Amino acid sequence: MKYVSTRGKAETLDFEDAVLAGLARDGGLYVPEAWPEFSEEDILDLAGLPYAEVAARVILPFTGGAIDHETLVDLVNRAYADFAHRAIVPVRQIVDDRWLMELFHGPTLAFKDLAMQVIGLLFEHILEKRNARVCIVGATSGDTGSAAMEAFKGRERADVFILYPHGRTSEVQRRQMTTPTDANVHAIAVEGDFDACQALVKAMFNDHAFRDGMNLGAVNSINWARILGQVVYYATSSVALASTGPVNYSVPTGNFGDIFAGYVAKQMGFPVGRLLIATNENDILHRTAQTGRYEKAETTQTSSPSMDIQVSSNFERLVFELTGRDGAAVAAMMDDLATTGAFSLSQGQLDHLREDFDSARIDQQRVKETIAGILSDTGMVIDPHTAVAVAGAQDWTVEGPVVSLACAHPAKFPDAVREATGQIADLPPHMADLYDREERVTVLANDLATVQAHIRRAVSR
Ligand SMILES: *Cc1c(COP(=O)(O)O)cnc(C)c1O
Repeated sequence: MKYVSTRGKAETLDFEDAVLAGLARDGGLYVPEAWPEFSEEDILDLAGLPYAEVAARVILPFTGGAIDHETLVDLVNRAYADFAHRAIVPVRQIVDDRWLMELFHGPTLAFKDLAMQVIGLLFEHILEKRNARVCIVGATSGDTGSAAMEAFKGRERADVFILYPHGRTSEVQRRQMTTPTDANVHAIAVEGDFDACQALVKAMFNDHAFRDGMNLGAVNSINWARILGQVVYYATSSVALASTGPVNYSVPTGNFGDIFAGYVAKQMGFPVGRLLIATNENDILHRTAQTGRYEKAETTQTSSPSMDIQVSSNFERLVFELTGRDGAAVAAMMDDLATTGAFSLSQGQLDHLREDFDSARIDQQRVKETIAGILSDTGMVIDPHTAVAVAGAQDWTVEGPVVSLACAHPAKFPDAVREATGQIADLPPHMADLYDREERVTVLANDLATVQAHIRRAVSR
């Protein structure tokens, strides 16, 4: 299995190189040259298997023989050993054919752990084979950063630098990034918003001297392995719930990574129906699905900060599909975005998008009402990101089962939960002392040279 860039110019790579590279050198994102397809029989065989076994089978064809089945099963088992629920990703019923897929039982209480814990071990596996080291830089709107730090802390072959928007994450999110004590993980608070952090990371990768000198790696949602790790729970849940027809998913969406994994599962033959792009007020993807025009706007701070995003990096992977995998066309659209702040899909491309995707925009008042409503209907406390998905699903007319993705534990966003329900969402036992741990963070200006200098110093120390 080879990996090609969405912009068509970068070198084609094998699985391990694509995973280590993160962003392609032409500014594009790596995607497999073709989607592996599972037969109906392969898919039926997965029913009832342990999560790690399904994960190994789903991931295997993407590795092109680089990693064997046994190694994958072992790796995935170790990755999820500390999850608080033995099912790894339990699915709970809301009502009738409406379900909630709980993705928050990992160490940092958000779905990012599912892929990231695998990536930590995958990097270790690859770097040991090559006797190499890597310097991982990433931008986070809140949850990716701590997930990366948890996955890599104490690992000898990696340093991790996480840029987050100063003052714009929840306190729990911030503390999860600033309290790990391992010397190889570093939190950087940037004086800017998430898009500024993401732009700094992209600029570091496009500075090839810096990139090669530091041996940069990325585990942001642009890294192919992030998407791959997320395909697995669409596989397990669609197989479990498809008895009445293909399973539809409502996905709280920011960077378009999680929902793209659902699209991939569908391409592979899993019984995935339609996918709902559920956004908060930062609705660039909702507007795109409605009008075909992808146009940046100001970022609004909401109660679901992990979706306070106006440039949705993984959308480029879908655009690549919508253009019929035409790298030059994608590159031209991304040039338009860089120079004018927008690009347009053709009518044909928009129709193609609508074959698989619907969209919804859920405002903060509705989020609040949904958190309260789900509590009174089911006794479950959901977080604001989950509420965006659940509200989107409530408004959605679609046939068959609907699964809303519960992407974060409510205790991660206690203020929003208290405001909606009057209840305090307690942290689970392994994190109960989070508020007492000492914080370690460097605040830096939104300036490329400043951030690069800091990283050079901290790595060489
Ligand atoms: C990251 C995140 C999202 C958005 O996921 P994308 O893959 O960026 O679309 C939604 N909810 C939570 C809780 C998250 O951490």
